[in-house]
Amino acid sequence: MEATEYMTGELCDGTTPYCKFKENEGKVISIKGAIHNIRDMSDFAFIILRTARELIQCVYSPEFSDYRMAENVVEQASAKITGKVVKSQTRDGSERFEIQIHNIEILSVPAAIPPVVISKKKVNCDLNVDLDYRPVTMRNPAERAVFKIQEGIQRGFREYLSKNGFTEIHTPKINFAGAEGGTNVFKLDYFGKTVFLAQSPQLYKQALVPVYERVFEIGPVFRAEHHDTSRHLNEYISMDFEMGFIDSFTDIMEMETGVLKYIMELLKTEYAPEVELLKVDIPAIDKIPCIRFKDAKQLCVKKLKNITDMKDFEPEEEAFLGKWAKQQYGSDFLFVTHYLSKKRPFYTMDDPEDPEVTLSFDLLFRGIEITSGGQRIHDYNMQVEKMKRLGMNPEEFETYLMLHKYGAPPHGGLGLGLERLTMHLLGFKNVRYAAMFPRDINRVTP
Ligand code: ATP
Ligand code: MG
Repeated sequence: MEATEYMTGELCDGTTPYCKFKENEGKVISIKGAIHNIRDMSDFAFIILRTARELIQCVYSPEFSDYRMAENVVEQASAKITGKVVKSQTRDGSERFEIQIHNIEILSVPAAIPPVVISKKKVNCDLNVDLDYRPVTMRNPAERAVFKIQEGIQRGFREYLSKNGFTEIHTPKINFAGAEGGTNVFKLDYFGKTVFLAQSPQLYKQALVPVYERVFEIGPVFRAEHHDTSRHLNEYISMDFEMGFIDSFTDIMEMETGVLKYIMELLKTEYAPEVELLKVDIPAIDKIPCIRFKDAKQLCVKKLKNITDMKDFEPEEEAFLGKWAKQQYGSDFLFVTHYLSKKRPFYTMDDPEDPEVTLSFDLLFRGIEITSGGQRIHDYNMQVEKMKRLGMNPEEFETYLMLHKYGAPPHGGLGLGLERLTMHLLGFKNVRYAAMFPRDINRVTP
């Protein structure tokens, strides 16, 4: 039998996916998109066409062609508009382009009017209503820009690490053991067995250090947070990396500083339309100051009242330290290092000079934790000892301990919460604004 058709990989349907206005000035082009907004004025209409990243002003007038507006030209209809690209002026006198409509071909018609107005600058409704209608509210240009920026952050993370010799990995999310145990693991019935959803890729990314030396993963992790806070989700995207042959845990902090610089530059250049639309205050990163946990705690104790927990920070202490870093160093970021051993997971390397503390760090961004990281134990006996000291049974971690048993270089890494970073970059008060379809204690839909 003969093939009847061939695919060549060339998509050629005569439309331009992005409107290259300058190149096309004076030409007749076709462009597909959604009808975002119609402003009708008797014999004349403005039709705003929403494409993947742009809003294109198209002008209808009987003067431009024989085409006459049809009844099915309605908001949210999918359309192919053909017309001539002409230069026009905005109210402030700046130059812009528009399309003089020669034809509108309607490709699909909506069955109903959206329940919330999405064609204004912002979707003006309560967060819960917004989230209930997310598939629709995200069509709003400001709302979709949030997740375009989020794409830029992930892309920057991926590009920078790829350029620095990291291998991208994907680790399983259904696991026999929870990575760090505790109360915030989700249990799952797996054909009669109890398994856990991954809280982090920790144990697997470490296993891959002796294989690839440097690895990273961008993927979902699951935390059964039993509280309803403005900074916790039950499923979030963790950007993780792990690197081998480090000389010190500060190598990880250097790498993260490089990643963040790269991300911010990428946003300024390739995501300029969204940065402009959302008026994003991109932090300048030159060098990031570092302070030891115990010194940071002293600062908090001096300045804030009623501090009872001397082993960790309350959100208000993080907020205070954020302000302090800004005032003192003009920095939106602050590394806090040497957290107490008691408060860090079992795989964390204790400081040989003071075993009460660890070779670990958190990164605060505008007063909230966005990263935890540090050096991990690579020596088998040291890891088994620490597990026993913490009342854990090393036998339950046989697979994990293969890493140490069969030889691993000094290594460390970190986890950076994508939604947390997005939230504080965009100045949101609630992390849900920075999650496309958030999962929290009260929400699993849409
Ligand atoms: P927190 O103390 O803020 O609850 P954590 O110390 O428990 O966070 P880690 O295990 O250190 O969190 O996770 C690494 C990073 O992942 C955090 O710095 C944060 O950016 C992000 N993160 C952790 N938990 C959540 C969550 N429930 N929702 C969104 N992001 C989270
Ligand atoms: Mg942490």
